[in-house]
Amino acid sequence: MKIKGLNEWGLATEKPLIISGPCSAETEEQLLTTARELKKAGVTVFRAGIWKPRTRPNSFEGIGNEGLEWLKKVKQETGMFIATEIANVKHVYEALKAGVDILWIGARTSVNPFAVQEIADALKGVDIPVLVKNPINPDLELWIGAMERFNQAGITKIGAIHRGFSSYEQTKFRNEPQWQIPIELKRRYPELPLICDPSHIAGDSSLIASISQKAMDIDFDGLMIESHINPKEAWSDAKQQITPSDLKKLVSELVCTEVKPENISLTDLEDLRYKIDQYDQDLMRILSKRMEIAEAIGDYKKNNNMTILQTNRWDEILNSRIRKGEELNLSESLIVSIFEAIHDESIDKQELILRG
Ligand code: PEP
Ligand code: MN
Repeated sequence: MKIKGLNEWGLATEKPLIISGPCSAETEEQLLTTARELKKAGVTVFRAGIWKPRTRPNSFEGIGNEGLEWLKKVKQETGMFIATEIANVKHVYEALKAGVDILWIGARTSVNPFAVQEIADALKGVDIPVLVKNPINPDLELWIGAMERFNQAGITKIGAIHRGFSSYEQTKFRNEPQWQIPIELKRRYPELPLICDPSHIAGDSSLIASISQKAMDIDFDGLMIESHINPKEAWSDAKQQITPSDLKKLVSELVCTEVKPENISLTDLEDLRYKIDQYDQDLMRILSKRMEIAEAIGDYKKNNNMTILQTNRWDEILNSRIRKGEELNLSESLIVSIFEAIHDESIDKQELILRG
């Protein structure tokens, strides 16, 4: 990809680039009061969603074109650059007509090559920065593919926004960061501006500062953080928005040091930790399945008047697991303690069934 670095985007800002503003434009007053405070906080780019892709229908789906008029006022009055999400060709035309400075592609659009291609075609010949959020699924190729479509349409001011990846499993994050993915993107395209969106990763305002700092530690170029003059009353993403004054505090407390070679090993560590987390989840899922089977055996023993503990069977299990452990480079003491713990738990579960 032929990409222009952030310093060539004409934003006249130092690293990190701070993009902030509400999840959604709601009212003229909400937008302008938030913008005035953000301007005082030193924000360069003001964001607001005009068309909102919501997971379920019947929630607020954005104010539409009327909000573009308010965004224009923000730009006129504060001098901040304005940014909004576009998801189809109609949005492209409306946003360009309104003089929006920066466009972004949402996670639910990045997943769809047809939609991305249509938007890219509509932008041919327009020299506007386009920020591409990662697709909702952890697919680096799809993310890169979306950026390539814009690049091939002639867009050179391209940035990637890391907003985390959705998973069925509930974790402390709304969208798991899976840091190894943006890190790999950076390794492959060192010149590509990389912006972190801690708001959509976190889903909760309390986690935003630590995620932002982490992004700085691995040398991201900027942050996109949702802010609202009255977060509790926000019409979308209320839990994750912060006030402009909290944003100012957060930015002032960020530690942005030059990336040292030591930090490179941090990326390896991240990767290894991620793998450990995944294996632990696998282990626990399998343990839970094993317990379900132990319970089914408990039912069987109850119906057939059998005792819970059959010593021969237990000896057989333990010996065969120790032998298997040797093959897998797992010590006998580890195997014995793991299987004793599992066996104890199975017996407890079966006892509950027999007594129940
Ligand atoms: C947003 O930025 O408000 C948004 C909808 O984000 P995402 O596409 O990352 O879900
Ligand atoms: Mn949002």
